[in-house]
Amino acid sequence: MNAIELAKEYFPEASEEELDHIIWSRTGFPSFFRGEESIEEQMRKQLSAYKKLVDAGKKVCDLCNSEATRNGLCHDCDEVLNRVRE
Ligand SMILES: [Zn+2]
Repeated sequence: MNAIELAKEYFPEASEEELDHIIWSRTGFPSFFRGEESIEEQMRKQLSAYKKLVDAGKKVCDLCNSEATRNGLCHDCDEVLNRVRE
């Protein structure tokens, strides 16, 4: 099973372009995975977290799979960027 096929399990109605966006922007694909779980297990967790927010109609942070609460970012990402800007 490749990454697109895996994403299609979670987003069966998505176009190939949307699936491409999801795997590149909402998962660690192609190489940002770490820890002891397999890449597939980690990717499934990331896809599931993203799908929960999408299904709930929530805005998703531009930088991670948390709910965006301010300026298109989640609280944590917003805080980090504000510290970097200071
Ligand atoms: Zn974030």
